[in-house]
Amino acid sequence: MNIAIDGPGGSGKSTIAKILAKKLHFAYLDTGAMYRAIAYYALEKGADVADEKTILPLLSDMEMKVWEEGGVQQVSVNGINTTPYIRENRISMAASTVSKIPAVRIKLVELQREIASKTDCILDGRDIGSYVLPNADFKFYMTADSKVRAERRHKELLEKGQDIPVEALLEEIEKRDLQDKTRSFAPLVVCEDAVVIDTTDLTIEEVTDRICRIVCK
Ligand code: C5P
Repeated sequence: MNIAIDGPGGSGKSTIAKILAKKLHFAYLDTGAMYRAIAYYALEKGADVADEKTILPLLSDMEMKVWEEGGVQQVSVNGINTTPYIRENRISMAASTVSKIPAVRIKLVELQREIASKTDCILDGRDIGSYVLPNADFKFYMTADSKVRAERRHKELLEKGQDIPVEALLEEIEKRDLQDKTRSFAPLVVCEDAVVIDTTDLTIEEVTDRICRIVCK
């Protein structure tokens, strides 16, 4: 069984997906981490994430591995474990920019489909229900007011030792939303068959309960 959870950054997708995966004994795949890993790798190699010409040569011999260690998803690119670095704030926009390149998406979608085909899995991302797994058993689209999402991100980054003003994060979130929604290949959309959950005024428990009432039968 596959469960797709899509939505913009800070909507609560990964928090809920992790809780649900534990509850249902499903695997969890954070597909955003895969785009972040490519962005990190490209920046390390001195490539321009906005320039397809500098990214394409990196893709041909790029090997990505995704596995779980101590309850935390790990992503390596050509043997380099990117996990400690991909949550840095500078990687968020770089991931969004590099993810516009169709060849990047095609490479990652192939791996995502392979992982999803092997096990019961909850995947979160932007295009899971619309492009990666259009036949997913359940589709959810989580969203929230952008100010609330910026505040959530602020708290999350603070816990990791990065203190970035909420206003700057809000601006970034809105820019990233626009970029993710307007790219030409597999943009962030609300699928017709997705259950939409606005998490602005909901607790984590309330969101989990809502989804559980649908999938935990
Ligand atoms: O979810 P997260 O913030 O980690 O994702 C980082 C970026 O990766 C997103 O802004 C989006 O551009 C891209 N992404 C994507 N498709 C996915 C998951 C993430 O394009 N399935």
